[in-house]
Amino acid sequence: MPNNRTALITGILGQDGSYLAELLLQKGYTVIGMDHAAGAANAVQSTAQRFARVQSILGSITLAPGDLADQASLLHLIETYQPDEVYNLAAHTFVPASWGQIVCTGEINALGVARLLDSIHQARPQARFLQASSSEVFGHPIESPQRENTPFSPRTPYGIAKAYAHWTTVNYRQSFGLFAVAAILYNHESERRPPDFVTRKITQTAARIKLGLADQLPLGSLDARRDWGFAGDYVEALWRMVQHEPPEDFVIGFGETHTVREFCQLAFGRLDLDYRDYVIVDPRFVRPPEPVQLIADPTNARQKLAWQPTLTFEQLVQRMVDADLQQLKQGISRP
Ligand code: NDP
Ligand code: GDP
Repeated sequence: MPNNRTALITGILGQDGSYLAELLLQKGYTVIGMDHAAGAANAVQSTAQRFARVQSILGSITLAPGDLADQASLLHLIETYQPDEVYNLAAHTFVPASWGQIVCTGEINALGVARLLDSIHQARPQARFLQASSSEVFGHPIESPQRENTPFSPRTPYGIAKAYAHWTTVNYRQSFGLFAVAAILYNHESERRPPDFVTRKITQTAARIKLGLADQLPLGSLDARRDWGFAGDYVEALWRMVQHEPPEDFVIGFGETHTVREFCQLAFGRLDLDYRDYVIVDPRFVRPPEPVQLIADPTNARQKLAWQPTLTFEQLVQRMVDADLQQLKQGISRP
């Protein structure tokens, strides 16, 4: 049933954008997706690859050109579509890559958010805005688990840019009265996660090994820990935040950490394989040790938003392995 509300999603072709678009369509929204590579000569992926995550809903959404680097394109989008809700999910998302693109990361992940908020302030101040903030803003936190008021201490260019974006969001709320909120998101995964990230790298490679298409999985530290959840659950939290009054920032995470080793054990085990026969440690993927754990305290989200993850860690791993095995068997090329 149409609900007469229009949502603009930046990053719609990414993991979260695709799940959020599906959720909002189910709720009757008109969904506009900003596509920064529309018609661009520099698009590095084929059209089929770029649209793979939204293939099933392409006929139900409107894709419009726009780029977080380009203020005029953002203003034009807001003026044209007059969205009721804006979800800023677009970003350069792979943390290690941010060291090689420090200025570019700031340009998109930090200043891009200021450009978008400024466009909303000018052309649609009654719109509700959500910023995808990140647990990386905590960097080396002074406490574990982290809550909404845990001080920021970012340690990567990605985290620094996300901290700027976070405070810019808070400031547009406090200084201009915009409904602007930031979700401090912990790692969330799915079969739509780009394969540079460790979870998808493991599930995709394990499935390839099972089918005889690969024989090794080179990884970094197996003892690294993350607070992992399912992306489909996290976009539900984003939507709930935008409906919640008064506007408020939330930590969104599972509240439980697991090691990369545990992820490997479960993923290979799902395929009746022993990860120790295939996983090798490759120094190229080893990162500096993380002295303090990033782990969420999602109490506020559970209490005030009645948000509850639906998939456990084990179910998440199984879902991703099963999906990758099926995709490979069907010869489907997905990012
Ligand atoms: P993805 O990498 O899957 O998607 C990000 C999207 O942003 C891509 O479609 C990308 O397009 C697009 N994008 C990149 N640069 C620009 C630009 N200049 N203008 C417009 N769009 C652009 O990320 P996720 O869906 O996983 O993450 C969504 C958001 O949540 C991000 O902001 C991320 O930083 C944040 N977040 C995610 C976490 C996670 O675990 N997934 C954890 C914490 C925060 P293209 O691929 O063509 O460049
Ligand atoms: P991030 O939290 O956004 O950096 O998500 P990633 O999936 O890239 O990394 C999660 C954790 O897995 C980090 O602590 C990495 O050090 C660890 N890790 C171990 N091996 C690998 C690997 O081969 N690739 C990646 N991306 N991460 C790895």
